[in-house]
Amino acid sequence: MKPFVYNGLPSRVIFGAGSIAQLPAELDRLGAKRALLLSTPEQKNSINEVANTLGSRCAGIYDKAAMHVPVEVAQDARRVAQELGADCCVTVGGGSTTGLGKAIALTSTLPILAVPTTYAGSEMTPIYGLTEGGLKKTGRDARVLPKTVIYDPQLTLTLPAALSASSGMNAIAHCVEALYAHDGNPIISLMAEEGIRALAVSLPKIKTKPQDLDARTDALYGAWLAGVALGAAGMALHHKLCHVLGGFGLPHAETHSIVLPHAMRYNRDAAPEAMRRIEKSLEKKDAPGAVWDLEAGLGIPMRLSDIGMKEADIERAARIATEAPYPNPRKVEYAPVLALLRDAYAGRRPAG
Ligand code: NAD
Repeated sequence: MKPFVYNGLPSRVIFGAGSIAQLPAELDRLGAKRALLLSTPEQKNSINEVANTLGSRCAGIYDKAAMHVPVEVAQDARRVAQELGADCCVTVGGGSTTGLGKAIALTSTLPILAVPTTYAGSEMTPIYGLTEGGLKKTGRDARVLPKTVIYDPQLTLTLPAALSASSGMNAIAHCVEALYAHDGNPIISLMAEEGIRALAVSLPKIKTKPQDLDARTDALYGAWLAGVALGAAGMALHHKLCHVLGGFGLPHAETHSIVLPHAMRYNRDAAPEAMRRIEKSLEKKDAPGAVWDLEAGLGIPMRLSDIGMKEADIERAARIATEAPYPNPRKVEYAPVLALLRDAYAGRRPAG
C-alpha cells in the first residue's frame, strides 16, 4: 500500500425514510432559531411544506435558487438573509439549492443544514461555485460545508425518472474519479466502490418504478458516499471536461452521464486498479463499456448533440480542457481529448 493522507470532513448525517421529521431537533442542535429556507422555484411546494413544520422557527423562504449560482441571485439571497436576521440556512433541493446556501455561508457565519433531493452530492463537499458574466468560478472553503445533512429518500420520490438516472450517473462519476485520483486513499476508495455498487443496482429499478422507496434509499446512500468521495479526492479529466462543457450552457447531470464512459475509456489503460474495482462493483467486465451499457439501459441521452452541444464548439472545448488540465492518470493531450469529445458528441460505445 502506498503512503496516503486522509482528511475527514466534519458533518453530521441523519439518514432514512421520514428523517425530515427530525429537522426541528437538528436545528436545536445547531442552536438555530431563525432559519432561512432555500429552494428553486420548481420546488416551491416542498419548501412550503417544510416551512409549515417549522412554524415561527422559519424566518422566511427564498425560492429563486438557479443552476450554477448566478452571482446576482447569491447577492440577493445574502441581502434577504441579513434583512430577516436569519441564523441558519436550510437548503431543500439539488446541487443548485445547496450551492446557493454555500454562497450565503461563504460571506457570513450562517451554518447550513442541507436536505438533498438529487444525487449531486454537493452537501458533502467544501466546494462552492459562483457564476458571473457567464464564467463559473469554483473554490474550496471549510465554511461552506453543511454542518448537518438530512437524507430522506421519501423526498426523492418526486425526482423525475430521467433526472434520477442522469443525477445518479453524475454521482457514479464522482466515485470513478475518486478511484484514480492522484490524492486518493484506501478509505475513500472503499466508499467509492460501494457508492458505484449501490447506484448501479438501484438506478435501473428507479427507472422502472420511480416510487420504489427501497431503490430510492439505496440510490441516496450511494449518492452520499459519492459526495464524500467528491469532497475528499481531487477530480480529474472527466470533471474538467464537464466543467468546460457547463460553460457552453450544457445541463450538469446529463453532461456528466454522457461524458463519463468516454473519459473512463481515455484513462482505462493508465488506471488498471481503478478499472478492476469498478468492474467488481458493477459485476461486469470492461468498465467503460459496462458504464455505457448501464446508461443506455436507463434511457438517458447518450450524445452531447442530444443536449445542445454544437459540433462547431467541439474543438474549442478540447482546447480549453487541455490548457490547464486537472491531474489525471493519463497525460491530457489535445488530439485524444478531441477524439473523446467527438465520440461523446456522436454517442459511440467506447471501444473495448
Ligand atoms: P439542480 O439542483 O439544478 O436540480 C435540477 C432540477 O430538479 C431543479 O429544477 C430542481 O428544483 C429539481 N429537483 C431537485 N430535486 C427534486 C425532487 N426530489 N423532485 C422534483 N424536482 C426536483 O440539479 P443538480 O444536478 O442536483 O445540481 C447541479 C448543480 O450543482 C450544478 O450547478 C453543479 O455544478 C452543482 N454541484 C456542485 C457540487 C459541489 O460540490 N459544489 C457538487 C455537485 C453538483
